[in-house]
Amino acid sequence: MSFLDQLISNTVRSDVQAIGSYHVPDASGYIKLDAMENPYLLPQHLRDELGVRLAGAVLNRYPPSYASLKAAICDKLGVPAGYDVLLGNGSDELISILAMACAIQDQSRRAVLLAPVPGFVMYARSAQFAGMDFVGVPLRADLSLDIDAMLAAIAQHRPALVFLAYPNNPTGNLFTVADIERIIAALGDTGIAVVDEAYEPFAQQSFMGRLPEFENLVVMRTVSKLGLAGIRLGYMSAAPALLAQFEKVRPPYNVNVLTQAAAEFALEHIDVLNAQAALLNSARDELAEQLAALPGVTVFPSKANFLLIRVPDSDDAYAKLLTHRVLIKNVSKMHAVLANCLRISVSTPEENAVFFNAFKASLV
Ligand SMILES: *Cc1c(COP(=O)(O)O)cnc(C)c1O
Repeated sequence: MSFLDQLISNTVRSDVQAIGSYHVPDASGYIKLDAMENPYLLPQHLRDELGVRLAGAVLNRYPPSYASLKAAICDKLGVPAGYDVLLGNGSDELISILAMACAIQDQSRRAVLLAPVPGFVMYARSAQFAGMDFVGVPLRADLSLDIDAMLAAIAQHRPALVFLAYPNNPTGNLFTVADIERIIAALGDTGIAVVDEAYEPFAQQSFMGRLPEFENLVVMRTVSKLGLAGIRLGYMSAAPALLAQFEKVRPPYNVNVLTQAAAEFALEHIDVLNAQAALLNSARDELAEQLAALPGVTVFPSKANFLLIRVPDSDDAYAKLLTHRVLIKNVSKMHAVLANCLRISVSTPEENAVFFNAFKASLV
């Protein structure tokens, strides 16, 4: 064994050694429909203004208090009065902060993070890295939440955290409000329900306004899918006493000054981003209709900026799309209920048309 192999085996956790890294494919030269990005930039005059704003950012100092950005978020994004937000370097970091804060180390038992599967992959990863056990509860074949199985698993495992993506990724559907309320009630004071609203700009459905009703609820969002994936900013809100606990785990300067300035600027022009989201919503519905008309293709209902479809041969369709320089996500191996499923981010009419024509050609 080489020195480095020996060093790694002596120092790095075996479960970390055993897993693969989160794969970000090199998409240069491809039409990129794999990561739910908003294809639209801000209009040129706003980008010019943003340039001036960023030039004024104080780069030589650590980020000062995040008060102004937090105030803008609370003001513009529906956070209830009396509630604050905690900022993250993307909501990925928020997931990891929650897991670290709740990974109680007990002699007899490891804390549990529970989520429906298939779901967002970072829930299981963050649980693992924090030293929590991950329990995945399969969705039904129609991709709806199996509420009986969820409640049984909650009773059995007493999870500290339950993550519910609303809408869910990679399935695109909204779980029912009634089911989520039952889960929050079942958790009571033994567990925290985290409603992950990454796709709220598209779904326009939210638990944010209901925070005062549920003291064991955390609502998490990101600006990524709205069109700011590059700046890495997520935020979450919860009862102040609970949020204060998570604040202790947050690295002090986790959101940089450029992100802060860009986000404040974007929030001043939130109507531009919301208009882009509305455009993507109608493009999604149009693409869904076109795809559903193709023989052998099933389109699942989506409230997000992507579509999940089932095709006769997902691996074949995925490979043929690659030869047309179109990159989508092959989710068929993620879970049994996703057999032969592909996930496609909705883009501009032009890119959607390139995808659709290449996809249609792949079927014959
Ligand atoms: C994309 C996504 C996130 C991650 O968002 P970032 O803020 O970019 O880290 C979180 N949750 C779900 C369900 C997502 O799809």
